[in-house]
Amino acid sequence: TCDTAIDAHAILREVFGFAGFRGRQEDVVSRVLAGKHTLALMPTGAGKSLCYQLPALARSGTAIVVSPLIALMHDQIRAAQALGIRAASMTSADSDRAETTKAFRAGKLDLLYVAPERATTPAFRSLLESCKLSLFAIDEAHCVSEWGHDFRPDYRALRPMLDCFADVPRLALTATADEVTRADILKQLGIPDEGLIRAGFDRPNIRYAISPRASAARQIGDFVQRNPGAGIVYATSRRATEDLAEKLKATGRPVGAYHAGLPAEERAATQAAFVASEDMVMVATIAFGMGIDKPDVRFVVHAGLPKSIEAYYQETGRAGRDGDPAIAQMFWSASDFARARQWLGEVEEARVAPERARLNALAALVESAGCRRAILLRHFGEDPPQTCGNCDNCCDPPQVIDATQTAQKLLSA
Ligand code: ADP
Ligand code: MG
Repeated sequence: TCDTAIDAHAILREVFGFAGFRGRQEDVVSRVLAGKHTLALMPTGAGKSLCYQLPALARSGTAIVVSPLIALMHDQIRAAQALGIRAASMTSADSDRAETTKAFRAGKLDLLYVAPERATTPAFRSLLESCKLSLFAIDEAHCVSEWGHDFRPDYRALRPMLDCFADVPRLALTATADEVTRADILKQLGIPDEGLIRAGFDRPNIRYAISPRASAARQIGDFVQRNPGAGIVYATSRRATEDLAEKLKATGRPVGAYHAGLPAEERAATQAAFVASEDMVMVATIAFGMGIDKPDVRFVVHAGLPKSIEAYYQETGRAGRDGDPAIAQMFWSASDFARARQWLGEVEEARVAPERARLNALAALVESAGCRRAILLRHFGEDPPQTCGNCDNCCDPPQVIDATQTAQKLLSA
């Protein structure tokens, strides 16, 4: 209705301090306010949190936010509380669960964050039955699909719980879902096809470059010397992270190392230094980056093959969030594929097909002589221009041998 639209704009301005909605936020918010189930597919940095936080304030009751990582929840809660939003989480890391339950029952919470493991327990379900709910937000919704790049079996158990509260609107959110994953999310969470809202995936200010790897340390050292600004280098293991960080010190740039095996205090200090720096190079495993708010990252380098196109898009998407020019450089080697294929032999039967499809899509990206951006966008179901003018293959077309002609010569000889 008109009233909720006016309310939504007032909340946007007065609580969040934004002049207007961005991209397709308004469409998503409108659907949720109308009580409809929705899947919002928007790139990293597009502002997905607002899509459930705003309706949580506009509707009466508490919004339940299902989120896969405690660290992510705590970041979001801190940010929401700073805006005056009443937010809390109920996780193994929260010692104040009894207080939170009390506040929830008393209707004094706008947002309650929970992990899927807890959301699907009978105890939590009966707690929900005694409270007023405004909506369910399912963040990182690709976790519900075996076709997604980060499948979490607990997400599968959400559906029966959601179905107990059929009139509470569901909002699933993700940055990364190809067509198969997208269809699967809709099905798994009971969202109608017309509930899909998609914002664009193109990041025109990111220049994509992908090169064969001979020596990671030398090539990345050269890259770092040629490219100013703060950047992230993703290494493939904890040891590789420390090795590479050590070697990159020779470039004279400030260098940090970050992986889950380092002490928490050291990690926090390195991360804070990176966020504040204009020229630091952070060598890290993929544990680094999620939920870190640094808009002026000028480059993201992959020292090896990422896990999937989705992972590549998400990781490279941390560059240039301020809209200024940024570079995504990947160094890959046939040995990366050999290792991935070996690992494929160890995954459970049901996972083999999606994992192989993922690997094939990556091979098509790295081996292509065509526009990288076009491959990425097509992967996410978008219709790209033939050339983008801002990737290695568009700017500096590779010399390709005409395989057809060669084959014809061989055949006719
Ligand atoms: P996502 O979850 O899609 O990656 P976030 O919800 O973390 O993105 O939001 C990314 C950034 O965009 C945040 O700093 C947020 O404050 C900002 N933002 C969100 N919506 C708007 C808006 N309508 N106008 C301006 N900035 C916005
Ligand atoms: Mg988010």
